[in-house]
Amino acid sequence: MTAPSNVTVRFAPSPTGRLHVGNARAALFNFLFARKNGGRFMLRMDDTDDERSTPEFAAAIKEDLRWLGLTHDIFARQSERLAAYEAAAEKLKSEGRLYPAYESAAELDRRRKRQLARGLPPVYDRAALDLTDEDRAALEAEGRKPHWRFRLDHEHTAFEDMIQGHVEVDGASLSDPVLIREDGRFLYTLPSIVDDIDFAITHVIRGSDHITNTGVQIQIIRALGAEPPAFAHYSLLNGPEGKPLSKRDDAGRFSLRALREAGYEPMAVNALLARLGTPDPVEPCLSLDELASGFDLSRLGRADIRFDPADLARVNAASLHLMPYAAMQPRLAALGCDLGADFWDAVKPNIVLFADAADWARVVTGPVAPVIEEPDFAAAAAAVLPPEPWNEATWGIWTDAVKSATGRKGKALFMPLRLALTGLTHGPELKNLLPLIGRDRAQARLKGLTD
Ligand code: GLU
Repeated sequence: MTAPSNVTVRFAPSPTGRLHVGNARAALFNFLFARKNGGRFMLRMDDTDDERSTPEFAAAIKEDLRWLGLTHDIFARQSERLAAYEAAAEKLKSEGRLYPAYESAAELDRRRKRQLARGLPPVYDRAALDLTDEDRAALEAEGRKPHWRFRLDHEHTAFEDMIQGHVEVDGASLSDPVLIREDGRFLYTLPSIVDDIDFAITHVIRGSDHITNTGVQIQIIRALGAEPPAFAHYSLLNGPEGKPLSKRDDAGRFSLRALREAGYEPMAVNALLARLGTPDPVEPCLSLDELASGFDLSRLGRADIRFDPADLARVNAASLHLMPYAAMQPRLAALGCDLGADFWDAVKPNIVLFADAADWARVVTGPVAPVIEEPDFAAAAAAVLPPEPWNEATWGIWTDAVKSATGRKGKALFMPLRLALTGLTHGPELKNLLPLIGRDRAQARLKGLTD
């Protein structure tokens, strides 16, 4: 649709758990932004934490993204790119921007507590910068291993965020970030930056919890001699209680796997996640291209937003309404309830999940346990059932005849017929269901016979 461009964006999950709806939103925004701008979408596994990352979680993430239809154009795994991170670290070390520090976690913690007690911000005091070569040699002789910190410039780093507007981060208010742990492993920051540079990422679109990181990252990007990409920080998705989504949500209730297994349509998930935070959030949409063409980062508000499963149910139902029979026929057949286009059109306004169609198929073909409160009324109605063939006019013809024969009207007329024919107080319009039920079954049910 859009002419190819150099736009390249990435979704960079850590394969340390399952994706929940908040993660899916990150993937979706990046995917839609790439689609809309004729760019490329990269999937990057941030798996440098080899204690917590697993191939199973990586495979599950790919499966979830495939379900949503968020196909990637570029793929990389950070665990295979360590040499590039080492090279970047060496460059920073040689320029004095990455320095070794030897404090243990307990020492740092004590220092932070002292600072807080004195009403000072708990910022790392850079004591390690004062160490001489002899001091370092002595510490290493004690068996200490350094972790490595990036020396921030104590200045304001400004950027124009595509959602938040003008942002400034004051380097002086932050601790020099640790880029390499004492066991030699890289923390998230440097690998992410090196990858963003090497894969020519043009736009970093991620949650507002990364805004301060961005100030730090821009300094590191420049220290590596590169130009920062554009940034967009969208507001975070909270759970229905208004609290941030948690591990519990990716382990369970709002994981993509849970939604898939519950029977939600992937495009309903996409439509809701793309539009929450915009003025019309609960609108169905049947294609990613259509979502992409209406996607605009600047329409996303800055306030935190809520994911409410009730909204998803509404979008799901509305999405099913839009589905033509031809598109659903294979799925109806697989569900064992392909009763034709008239059936699908009759029941789709009454389903929330696709699998609900099977319940209505059972109402058509039986077994139904008819509910007959007044056998005489049911017998009188059965006596005036019109001859077949039946169509959608039949219900009107029949109920007119029942009305004349019994003097009933309104609810007193319709509800006993619905209860007898379906065993239920609610359901699809009977003018559509009756021809599907057919005369034989209708007659039997009006006699109270379970078919
Ligand atoms: N792996 C990082 C995370 O999941 C990626 C953040 C980013 O987009 O830079 O938080």
